[in-house]
Amino acid sequence: MTTVRISDDALALACGADAVAAAFTAAGATVERVSSWGMHWLEPLVEVGGIGWGPVGPGDVQAILDGGLDAKCIGPVAAHPFIMRQQRFTFARAGKTRPLNLDDYAATGGWDGLRKAREIGPEAIVETVTASGLRGRGGAGFPAGIKWKTVAGAAGGEKYIVCNADEGDSGTFADRMVMEGDPFMLIEGMAIAAEAVGAQRGYVYIRSEYPHAIAKMQAAIAASAEIVAPFELEVRVGAGAYVCGEETSLLNSLEGKRGEVRAKPPLPAIEGLFGKPTVVNNVLTLAAVPWILANGADGYAEVGFGRSRGTMPIQIAGNVKHGGLFEVGFGITLGELVNDIGGGTASGRPVRAVQVGGPLGAYHPPSDFHLPFDYEAFAAADGLIGHAGIVVFDDTVDMAAQARFAMEFCAAESCGKCTPCRLGAVRGMEVIDRIRSGAGRQLETIERMPQMHNMPKQGRDPAEEIALLTDLCETMKFGSLCALGGFTPYPVMSALKHWPEDFGAT
Ligand code: SF4
Repeated sequence: MTTVRISDDALALACGADAVAAAFTAAGATVERVSSWGMHWLEPLVEVGGIGWGPVGPGDVQAILDGGLDAKCIGPVAAHPFIMRQQRFTFARAGKTRPLNLDDYAATGGWDGLRKAREIGPEAIVETVTASGLRGRGGAGFPAGIKWKTVAGAAGGEKYIVCNADEGDSGTFADRMVMEGDPFMLIEGMAIAAEAVGAQRGYVYIRSEYPHAIAKMQAAIAASAEIVAPFELEVRVGAGAYVCGEETSLLNSLEGKRGEVRAKPPLPAIEGLFGKPTVVNNVLTLAAVPWILANGADGYAEVGFGRSRGTMPIQIAGNVKHGGLFEVGFGITLGELVNDIGGGTASGRPVRAVQVGGPLGAYHPPSDFHLPFDYEAFAAADGLIGHAGIVVFDDTVDMAAQARFAMEFCAAESCGKCTPCRLGAVRGMEVIDRIRSGAGRQLETIERMPQMHNMPKQGRDPAEEIALLTDLCETMKFGSLCALGGFTPYPVMSALKHWPEDFGAT
């Protein structure tokens, strides 16, 4: 009987993978549900004996079983150029294993890292992670080994491992793919962290918008409980506030409090969850750890660029031909990602802008395509790589509207604790609205509000409004307590800098 492999991750399901699987079953084939290769433009991707077809619909099933449908055949999936160009450390199992099958996991090197960690003990684990150069993949890029060392050395018996799985950036899906496609790898990474710092309990904080990831993680935690014991793990579901991706808000939310940012110090590594020393790491950070322990720090550290060592699972999305998950060593250029790997825009029109690093990342014009994908290189170009999501726009995009969206997003997601963010984002929307409408300050507003009667009774010209927007962005950048308010100026100012014509300022 023919065995057909089809992904059961959320993206494949959204593309109709269940209906395709049902059609194969009805036609007498055996269907195996596996993780996704990350070639999202080909989902639902169907694999028979290593040969792939995609995107497949239920009507294509019989032709595939008959060995036909050449138009959708991509040949050997593992040899596809999109896969061959990658360096897959974290996503080495993607597309190859059944996510909740412990035998598949063990047969592909699963638990080797944890075994090694238990052999070498806490100090050597921390040394290995430090030597690998692994930096937090959630966006901040802080060295994981230093964080772990701080928690390991902190006083207090009870310690925690918290996995930040509150993936909320536009165009990002790597955390979701780990949790849905290779959940034991994340559990293993957390168990290694627990060995390193002496933690007894761990929490995976996932937003409610990720029901498939929640279900997979819960099932995987139950299936692997004996292997990771005495370390205990639990999934906690957040309501989906962007600011809960900030580690101190996340901890408040985990404690059942309002998801509001805490002032630092104290660092969570010293006083974190329930006031105890806590490792808070993103999914990709923890998922990179089993490979490092199993294969050694050197193999990881020798890949990368500058101070950014190892690989980064980059998520290519937006108006792009070949959207998907592309894991590669740091240093690949933005232009290679967009044009060579992404294949340019899906619309076929010229690329105008690429937003890197989520909704608070800067917009980059094609003149930035030489930038190597690296924390420092993007920071030097007034940008950030964040969680490594890139969203491509063609030449029909209105960059002033995108800038307004950044302010609107910040206003909607602000926790309200500090003024530059809470009020600045609302004022930012208003200024951009005035710029876009060319209205200047509305005189009737001044007339209507007594507290504004001392304001000049005339509209501002566009140059004044743009100066006001710039000043407001500076205030938000330097006066906000956390990254939400502090980074919102990045998309706004980059849009203004590179596309002033969209703001009426040429
Ligand atoms: S910057 Fe915004 S989200 Fe962050 S603490 Fe201030 S008000 Fe809250």
